[in-house]
Amino acid sequence: MRKKVIAGNWKMNKLAKEANQFVDEVLPKLPNSDQVEAIVCTPFPFLANLVDKAKGTKLQIAAQTMHYEKNGAFTGEVSPEMLADLGVTHVIIGHSERREYFNETDETVNKKTHAAHQYNLTPIVCVGETLEQREANETMNHVENQVTKALKSLTEQQIAQTIIAYEPIWAIGTGKTASSEQANEVCTHIRQVIEKITSSEIAEQVIVQYGGSVKPANIKELLAQSDIDGALVGGASLEADSFLQLVEAGAK
Ligand code: PGA
Repeated sequence: MRKKVIAGNWKMNKLAKEANQFVDEVLPKLPNSDQVEAIVCTPFPFLANLVDKAKGTKLQIAAQTMHYEKNGAFTGEVSPEMLADLGVTHVIIGHSERREYFNETDETVNKKTHAAHQYNLTPIVCVGETLEQREANETMNHVENQVTKALKSLTEQQIAQTIIAYEPIWAIGTGKTASSEQANEVCTHIRQVIEKITSSEIAEQVIVQYGGSVKPANIKELLAQSDIDGALVGGASLEADSFLQLVEAGAK
């Protein structure tokens, strides 16, 4: 059975003091279950401190992006080696906001996914369609294309250890959640695409998350679907209380 993986994506929010308070509040209350993984993806300045605080606990600390090179003349960038060296465990790759505002392409997503595996970071690769694409019936093709390009030339083992987050762009931060059936339909398709690239055995192992206005009120229904193994959550992950409710739903 696949575990459930709940990842909070704080985006560009919180100050150091608030980040510390969040972790202090969450740590003693995290469910003691092997069925669920709890991750928070924080801005770079908080990573070192939060990794330190969360050491030896069930909370894992992740980054929201990174460069694909190990080091070099890339002013302002953060490398996979730096993240791994700090003890960061996961990194979001290709979030739609990075694709839209920061020139992330399918090609850089693929390079970053390779780089993450090279440094034993678990990539959380984001894919998803715009409202126009959904209305034009292009969702399945578009998502298939993004997944195939993101995973290009990875080994089967690396693919098995990659998390895919299906995030329809029209559902992010809008309060509009895809219905659980709509979300599951695409997550099932993603697993079929992975099966085509690898095998059914590998495809069965891959964690496929849903993201887009996930909150305590809708998480249970989403997680009850056959191919949704967790959630990537923005707004509802900012408060300790609501994040804990999401993780608890995954532990059931
Ligand atoms: P949201 O964001 O939960 O605020 O819709 C999700 C995401 O962008 O990962």
